[in-house]
Amino acid sequence: MVLILRYQGYQNIIRQAERLTLATLENNAWSIAQIINGDEHQHLQEAYQEKDEISGLTQDQRYDNLHKALASAQKELGIETPVYTYTKNEASNSFDFIVTSSLDPYFRHPFTSAPEEQISSYGKSNRLPAYSDEHGKWLSAFSPIRNSSGEVVAMVQVDQCFDHFLNEASQDAFAGLWWNFLLILFLVIIVWKYVTVLIYKEEEDKIELQKIIGEKTEISERLSLREKELERQKKSLVNKNQYLEDFANIVSHDLKSPLRGISNFASLLSRRLGPTAESSTTEYVNYIKSNAKRALNLVDGILNYSKLGTDAHNNTSCNLLDLVKDARENLLSVIDGRGAVVEVAERLPDAVCDKVIVTQLFQNLIGNGLKYNNAEVPTVKVTCTKDPEKGCVMAVSDNGIGIAKEYQASIFDMFTRLHGSEGQFEGSGIGLAFCLRIIKSYGGEIWLDSEEGKGSTFYFNLPEALLGEPEMV
Ligand code: ADP
Repeated sequence: MVLILRYQGYQNIIRQAERLTLATLENNAWSIAQIINGDEHQHLQEAYQEKDEISGLTQDQRYDNLHKALASAQKELGIETPVYTYTKNEASNSFDFIVTSSLDPYFRHPFTSAPEEQISSYGKSNRLPAYSDEHGKWLSAFSPIRNSSGEVVAMVQVDQCFDHFLNEASQDAFAGLWWNFLLILFLVIIVWKYVTVLIYKEEEDKIELQKIIGEKTEISERLSLREKELERQKKSLVNKNQYLEDFANIVSHDLKSPLRGISNFASLLSRRLGPTAESSTTEYVNYIKSNAKRALNLVDGILNYSKLGTDAHNNTSCNLLDLVKDARENLLSVIDGRGAVVEVAERLPDAVCDKVIVTQLFQNLIGNGLKYNNAEVPTVKVTCTKDPEKGCVMAVSDNGIGIAKEYQASIFDMFTRLHGSEGQFEGSGIGLAFCLRIIKSYGGEIWLDSEEGKGSTFYFNLPEALLGEPEMV
């Protein structure tokens, strides 16, 4: 681009310089023609017809005068090359040089290489477009010399060699071009480097991308295999759960019917024996009855516990207050029997949970609070407190017998009973294990705070079931 612009600039300069030089040459030729004595020139031409007939400056005064006029004009006008006159040779239809500003006359030497335009312009002022010969590139202008009668007797030609100017102009035009060229080369190298880096980077990115795609495909294949495996395991688990549930149902049914049989026959036996029976016999029969009942409760507890793990929760929206009230309702006979009190907070949180099992959870905790309680008025309170870390925490507290520190961690284990051996408190050791399992299924925790003889408080939260917090009372 820079090269093209520079070349165009150079061309313009040349054209302009050529025009100006030609105009100057034409003026010079015209000016010189005016100072040449046409009559004298005519007489000289007529006097000497042969080539080199004049060979020295002083040979003829007229030649010397005309030469001096040309030489001084050349000097005055600052013309670099000799100025000369020529005339038309009618015989050969060419020109003959007549007088020159050079010191050596060149008289009547033929001027055969005149361009056609110059020949046709004989007698008129004109200029020639640039032309070249063995001496270089030339610009010329010529003008007629007239005698006192106004007739054209010869022409004056002024030339200027254009090579010098062309050299300078081209040097000027292309000066610094090397630097431009080097700069462009430098820029091209930088751009090329940048492009190759980009291409290389793109290649690398492509390879990286292909690698990532490959890895991704591998991962998705592995994932899909894993999904299939999981699906298979899920099916197998569902089948196993179904099998376990069926098994639990069958076992419970098969266990319960002989137990019911034992219980029923023990009742029949006790009726048959009547009030007259020996006290030890009655005691044994009652013992059979109560053990059969315990065994039946145990089977029911195990069945409920096993179902908890297999059935999906039937979650619905509810308010915990309603569930607590239902649990209290279910325990009404115990409450009335013991003359107990169950106090419930006025507001409890809303929840999305399985109403049946969460009611069972409250029922177990409230039931334990009433059962393991020797107070005159057994009292159980259900409240809700706000914990900064655990959120909404439910609390079931009682004024019962309390639990010694060393047993507090183990009471949530299946079949753990602290107070069953004396026969005072009936139970299966499944209730708290059942509670723990429900709470865990909602992402919660259960813990307690208890002191022997002073009562216990069981705390739990249900983060995946509880919605917001109730207004605290
Ligand atoms: P169960 O009541 O059928 O024996 P649980 O799993 O509900 O079984 O309770 C396990 C044991 O924890 C109970 O046997 C009892 O010794 C103790 N326990 C549970 N709740 C309380 C309570 N509120 N106060 C004192 N002891 C309790």
